[in-house]
Amino acid sequence: MYVVMITPECAPVAKVGGLGDVAQGLSYELSIRGHTVELILPKYDCMRYDKIWGLSPSYQGLMVPFHGEIIPCDVFFGFVDGLKCYFIDPHSHHSFFNRGVFYGHRDDVERYAFFCRAALEFLLRAGKNPDVIHCHDWQTGLVPLLLFELYKFQGMTHPRVCYTIHNIGHQGITGEHTLRQVGLDPGYHMRLDRCQDDYSPFTVNLMKTGIVFSNYVTTVSPRYAEEVRTSTLGHGLQPVLNAHADKFSGVLNGIDYNVWNPEIDPHIPFHYSAETIDEKYQNKDALRNRLLLREEFKPIVSVVGRLDRQKGVELVRHAMFYALSHGCQFVLLGNSPDAKINHDFWRLKHEFNDNPDCHLELAYNEELAHLIYAGADMIVIPSIYEPCGLTQMIGMKYGTVPVVRNTGGLADTVFDADYSTKPVEERNGYGFDHYNYEGLESALSRAIHRWFAEPDSFRQLAVNAMRTDYSWNLPASEYLRLYELIREK
Ligand code: ADP
Repeated sequence: MYVVMITPECAPVAKVGGLGDVAQGLSYELSIRGHTVELILPKYDCMRYDKIWGLSPSYQGLMVPFHGEIIPCDVFFGFVDGLKCYFIDPHSHHSFFNRGVFYGHRDDVERYAFFCRAALEFLLRAGKNPDVIHCHDWQTGLVPLLLFELYKFQGMTHPRVCYTIHNIGHQGITGEHTLRQVGLDPGYHMRLDRCQDDYSPFTVNLMKTGIVFSNYVTTVSPRYAEEVRTSTLGHGLQPVLNAHADKFSGVLNGIDYNVWNPEIDPHIPFHYSAETIDEKYQNKDALRNRLLLREEFKPIVSVVGRLDRQKGVELVRHAMFYALSHGCQFVLLGNSPDAKINHDFWRLKHEFNDNPDCHLELAYNEELAHLIYAGADMIVIPSIYEPCGLTQMIGMKYGTVPVVRNTGGLADTVFDADYSTKPVEERNGYGFDHYNYEGLESALSRAIHRWFAEPDSFRQLAVNAMRTDYSWNLPASEYLRLYELIREK
C-alpha cells in the first residue's frame, strides 16, 4: 500500500511531543512491512537538520495558491531514520516556517492552512496518488476537505483519508477567512454539518472539519475514544464524534523499540533487558552523576514531559514535595510554553538548587530523557487527561514503574500492582482515579512503600513492565486494517 503522512511533526527532526513519535514510529513499522510510506512536513528552520540524511531540493517552483496570491515553494527531500520525507519550503514575506519554534505564533492557523494546501498541491503536481493520506491533528484538518472539494476534481480521485486526533484540547479555531485563504467558499462550507463550530456561528473548527470529511477517524487509545464521545473531555466535539461514531475508534499508540530500547539505546551508558535488569542500576548512578545527586539508598522518582495544564502540573509539583519528604530523590525534565507555569517551575528550581536529592531540568533534552527513563525507579504521570501518553510506555520499556492517573491511554496501558483485575504477572504500575493530592498520594505512597519494604516484588513489577509489549506491532496491523477498510468503501 502507498501511504502519505501529512504531519506537522516527525521525530527526531521536528518533535514537540508524542505526535512526532507516532508519525515516525507508525511510518517506520509500515515501511518495514513493505508498504511505501512518505511523509510531508513543513521545512521548519528549527528542525534537527543533523538528523536528516541527504537533504536536497526535489521539486522546485511549486506554485501554491493562497489568500489571493501564488506562493512559490521548493520541496526538499531527505531521509529521516530511513523514512522518505518531503519538506515544504515557501518563499514569501510570511516566513511561515522560519520562526525559530514550531508552534506558538498568532498566525499558527494560517501557517498550517497554507501547509495543507501546499501538501496537496505538491502531491498533485508531483503526480503522487497514494492509496491513503494519513493526517494528524488540527494542523491538517483541512486536508480531507481540500482533497474532496478541490483536488478530487483535478485528478486526485484515488486517495482515502485517515485522520488521527492526538489531542482534542487543541482544535484550530478560526474565522471563515481561513476557508477563503485556501480557496474554499465559506458560503457553502459554513454549515453545522461541515466546518462550522457547533457553538459559535461565525467560527470554523479545523479539527471538526478533519473529522467530518475524513473517511476514517482514530484517536490514540480506546479509553480516550470513549471519553471524548461521552464526557466533557471531548471539549465540545462530542456531538460530531457521535454523529460520525461509525467511522471513529481508538487505536493505542505504540513506541518504536528501535529508538526506545534499553538493550541498544546509544544515549545510555549501560544496556540491559528484563533478564539483566540489575544493569539498570548502573544507569541510576550515571543519572546521579550527571545531575549531581548524592549517592544514597533511595528510589528516584521522575517526571518527563511538557509542563502543560493537561499534564497535571499541580500534582507534578506535589509529587516532588511528597517524594522528597518520603525518602526519595526527584528528577524532572520538562519545559512549558506557558509563561506562568514556566516561571513557577523556575522558582521551584531555584528554591531546590542546593538540594542533593532533587534536580529540575527545565528544557527540552532528548538525550537526557533517555538517561532518566533508564536511571529512574518510578515515573509519575498525573494528567488531567491523556489521549495516549508515551512516557508511561517508554518508562515501562526501561523498567521504570509508572504511577499514573487512570485516564485515557494511561488507563489502557498501566495495570495497578494491587487493584488490577489482570493476572499478577501482567500488573505493571500504579494508578489513581481522583485528580487531587490524596489521589496521587494513594498511588505514589504504595509505590514508594514497595520499593523500600519489598524490593524483590518491586523489581518483579519493573520486569513485568518491561515485558509488556507496547511496540508498533499490533497498532500498525490495526491501522492497516483500517486503511484497507476505507479503500474498499
Ligand atoms: P504529549 O504528546 O502530550 O507531549 P506524550 O507522552 O504522548 O505527551 O509524548 C511525550 C514525548 O515527548 C515523549 O517521547 C517524551 O520523552 C518527550 N518529551 C516531552 N518533554 C520532553 C523534554 N522536556 N525533553 C525531552 N523529551 C521530552
